[in-house]
Amino acid sequence: MRFDYHIHTEFSYDSVIKGDALMAKAISLHYDEIAITEHLDLLPLELSNYGLPSLKKYHVYTKLLQERYPQIKLRSGIEIGDYHLLRDYAKELISGFDFFPILGSVHFLRDHTNVAIPLKKPLSNAQIRDYYENNLALVSECDIDILAHLGVYKRYYDYRPDERLVQGLIKDIFKTMIKRKIALEINLSSLRKPYRESIPEPDYLQLYQELGGELISVGSDAHLLENFGEAHLFAEQMGITLNVDRHPESEALIQG
Ligand SMILES: [Zn+2]
Ligand SMILES: [Zn+2]
Repeated sequence: MRFDYHIHTEFSYDSVIKGDALMAKAISLHYDEIAITEHLDLLPLELSNYGLPSLKKYHVYTKLLQERYPQIKLRSGIEIGDYHLLRDYAKELISGFDFFPILGSVHFLRDHTNVAIPLKKPLSNAQIRDYYENNLALVSECDIDILAHLGVYKRYYDYRPDERLVQGLIKDIFKTMIKRKIALEINLSSLRKPYRESIPEPDYLQLYQELGGELISVGSDAHLLENFGEAHLFAEQMGITLNVDRHPESEALIQG
């Protein structure tokens, strides 16, 4: 089964992909299921720079796309940036919609370093620790379906940094995800950047699985149409099949 659960289209301030073109390409490549996961970035600086997309317009847009292209399953998802810092606000914003999957991602450190863009210099050990502590808070406190791009700060590195100091923290993140039924995303954006390796890397996927983790997602994180269309090759190579459930608490919220 061919799928890609992390794609940005025109409701994301940093993407130029048009929904129709995406659907046409996904169908031509025989995808079974894709998820558009627009950014919901709510930190003050992000809001003042990029504004807030209309969630209602976005939701209607995905429903119309699905009607126009019934050959493929389209998920109307969302990527909430730094959800744990604005949890109640974000939760209320999305409460009227049945977004799935809900991706959670850490983009900022406590010192306001944006780790999703090229860094001026490599992170210090204290910043690496802070990055993973934020991820632990995110998976502990927020009702997300998928933890997105764990290790994103490494995307622009051309070597693998020493993360021995945070191995315990990473194990805690995985154990918490397993307990709370949050899927681990293997993000492919870093394959297109100097790092040339997925994030997290295959050995972290193996650690997650050794700890009992079974829910795994794959996402191209495409913002350009040319960057969409290879997730299935990676998933096949890694033996990953689509296995993401709606987070139990979100499910209860929707049914209730
Ligand atoms: Zn992101
Ligand atoms: Zn993304």
